[in-house]
Amino acid sequence: MTVPTEPRPALTLNVCDDFARLPASFFSRVTPTPLQGPHRLVSVSAAAARLIDLDADGLSPDDWIALITGTRLPSNARPLAMVYAGHQFGHLVPQLGDGRAILLAQVRNQAGALWDLHLKGAGPTPYSRQGDGRAVLRSSIREYLCSEAMAALGIPTTRALGLVASSEAVYRERIEPGATVLRLAPSHIRFGHFEYFYYGNRHEYLAPLADYLIDHHLTHLREFDEPYLALLDHTIQRTAETIAAWQSVGFCHGVMNTDNMAMLGHTLDYGPFGFLDTYDAGHICNHSDHRGRYAYDQQPYIGHWNLSCLAQAMLPILDPDPETAAVKATGYLETYPSRYDAAYLARMRAKLGLAVHGRDDRTLVDALFAAMQGNSVDFAILFRTLADFEPDGANASLRNQFLNPATFDAWAAQYATRLKAERSDPSQRRVAMHAANPKYVLRNHLAEIAIQKSEAGDDSEVNRLLAILARPYDEQPEHHAYADYPPAWATGLEVSCSS
Ligand code: AMP
Ligand code: MG
Repeated sequence: MTVPTEPRPALTLNVCDDFARLPASFFSRVTPTPLQGPHRLVSVSAAAARLIDLDADGLSPDDWIALITGTRLPSNARPLAMVYAGHQFGHLVPQLGDGRAILLAQVRNQAGALWDLHLKGAGPTPYSRQGDGRAVLRSSIREYLCSEAMAALGIPTTRALGLVASSEAVYRERIEPGATVLRLAPSHIRFGHFEYFYYGNRHEYLAPLADYLIDHHLTHLREFDEPYLALLDHTIQRTAETIAAWQSVGFCHGVMNTDNMAMLGHTLDYGPFGFLDTYDAGHICNHSDHRGRYAYDQQPYIGHWNLSCLAQAMLPILDPDPETAAVKATGYLETYPSRYDAAYLARMRAKLGLAVHGRDDRTLVDALFAAMQGNSVDFAILFRTLADFEPDGANASLRNQFLNPATFDAWAAQYATRLKAERSDPSQRRVAMHAANPKYVLRNHLAEIAIQKSEAGDDSEVNRLLAILARPYDEQPEHHAYADYPPAWATGLEVSCSS
């Protein structure tokens, strides 16, 4: 399919340019550099399209391609690249920015909600450094599918509206087809936006940035005596909740640098992410993360570390007196561990089918993970099948998932006692547990099969996965194979920062 050359009417959306009302130091105006055609429309997410009042079938494939390649801009759109900084693997980089994703337009939908349309792989920007401004089809498929899968899991995330493959080659470890993904989020403002102005000694821009977030997304914070402190408080809470949600489904982000942390707390920037197959607390999903800084079990602590970077960068607007500002920031940061624990325990109680709060619930949860460690237990399968647990039964199909079944028995005895104590009804518990334990997650090997087919020109698997992962908690017996253990070849799959 080729992009039409004759002029056609531009897509009419309720476009606004609100971010650009901030001072010019916040961004650079850019125009997308579309990849060469012919292009292929790989997929459009009807659910994401609805967020901006679009009907997936209301636009022709050519029109979708024109939008998702950046060939034809929505009416009144004036694209820009945002500048930000960030701590990458613990080290401050004073200037980063949108190096290959541009803010194509901001759209206000009929319900009044603001959505950023962010085009990834749209070509170089003033912040591209040595990069080519491009994204490959492989990583674009992963980002596209995972964004929509996370949303269906009920985990805060950027969304993905559509994906286009190009025939222009992009050079990574090998020559690969290039692609663009159009993603959506209420805001793409990162912790690193505050760090940019803080470390650049331009503290006068911190308040306008905070004001933008409050005025556009968190107007209720205006009622607080100290709205900027309330903003920090809000980001701490949302970050704790999102990371707790990640832990509860075995999601590993892979690159939790502060430039990949959203101020509104949603999951942002899908690179070398992964879902745990076999449970391993120290699992490192990013092949480039040699020291395991972003290992699965480190994510909650890194969340705290990142929030302290944010708090540091916000100090000048928390109080005119530096010492008072530090005391205030520290006070809020200290609340993170207990907020994280509360969010995590709420998720885990639901996963174990515990309707009432028990004093020893955290111990029970920790004991389960300790039993899983080193026992070759598949994360998603174990939790899904735990719904079949019978307090007085032998539970053979559960215990057999453990390399050493006796490890399970010890835990099962505690669990049985706990369930009996709250007199839970088995059939109600089963339904509730199925709604808390996904049957379908985007395992690496599923993404890999879809990628290989798409690279060969067949996008059917991407679209099949999109549909299956849109209903992760439903049985979908016809798709049972997608919930099965990964094949042996998947063990060697490696995902790195290169995308
Ligand atoms: P990431 O860790 O992938 O979120 O990227 C970190 C920084 O590198 C961001 O500023 C990106 O915009 C930039 N970047 C990553 N890949 C490229 C690329 N191929 N071209 C230009 N900039 C890039
Ligand atoms: Mg990034």
